Amino acid sequence: MATDLIGTVDLPLVAQRPRDFKGKVDPDWCPGCGDFGVLNSLQRACVELGKQPHELLIVSGIGCSSNFPGFFNAYGMHTLHGRALAVATGAKLANHDLTVVVTGGDGDGYGIGGNHFVHTARRNVDLTYIVMNNQIYGLTTGQVSPTSSEGMRTKSTPFGSVEMPVNPITSAIMNGASFVARGYSGDPKHLADLMQQAIQHKGFALIDVFSPCVTFNHDNDYAFFRPRVTKLEDEGHDTHDWKAACEKAMVWGDTIYIGLFLQAPRPTLEEHEPVLSQDGPLARRPLGLSEAQSQRIIERMM
Ligand code: SF4
Ligand code: MG
Repeated sequence: MATDLIGTVDLPLVAQRPRDFKGKVDPDWCPGCGDFGVLNSLQRACVELGKQPHELLIVSGIGCSSNFPGFFNAYGMHTLHGRALAVATGAKLANHDLTVVVTGGDGDGYGIGGNHFVHTARRNVDLTYIVMNNQIYGLTTGQVSPTSSEGMRTKSTPFGSVEMPVNPITSAIMNGASFVARGYSGDPKHLADLMQQAIQHKGFALIDVFSPCVTFNHDNDYAFFRPRVTKLEDEGHDTHDWKAACEKAMVWGDTIYIGLFLQAPRPTLEEHEPVLSQDGPLARRPLGLSEAQSQRIIERMM
């Protein structure tokens, strides 16, 4: 049984294999880019969770990794630079039955969109935010980003960056994110497992992913991460201990931790909205408007 879900190509109604989540467009990323591992991991996680394309919305900002929704068979929105979380919050409030995943890079999420990162975390909106952190601006051919290491030489910092990098993990914890994890695209099985947990978690879930830019960041490539990444679960880390989570998140040397740092469930923004707790998602409720009234509103907005 086949049906047309997204336009001109026949796709299976029931997605059972990672390739069923393959979009109509092939990724335009450089060969070896870490984002391929993230794409494969999310496809794998969706299969494991039994998700179907029509149950999933992927929202992105701008950047190499923000082309993600085009490569994935699901609803997708490619929005403005740094604004993906704001759009995703609106989508989630309009249809809280939808699984909403936000994808983007470190520049988009922690730089241009830094304020939305703070406020979406404290509001605990039920979103999964996957940041492909390559510690550089890749799409614009290699400038220093909010997560670039101190001293890193780039096109915009020829004598080395003098800025201290953002720590996404401690920032998310301090701002109230209720699920905070770090993955590595070189270990897609581990990353897919984190994604499954993040999607199942009720509340704002960050997965910061080391996703090497093989073209413009030669400091933080696979050879850098491979010997350093250490799984928190192998160290007996307590995921309810925020102090231990912060301490582990600040370790950056021969050891760099990946895995789930903190899970601290609390009510989500949607659960605080009484209007959402009755009669299902807003998107499916009658608006009480005539067709002419609806048409006038649409015309004013276009
Ligand atoms: Fe990936 Fe870097 Fe190429 Fe962009 S420039 S696709 S981040 S390797
Ligand atoms: Mg980047």
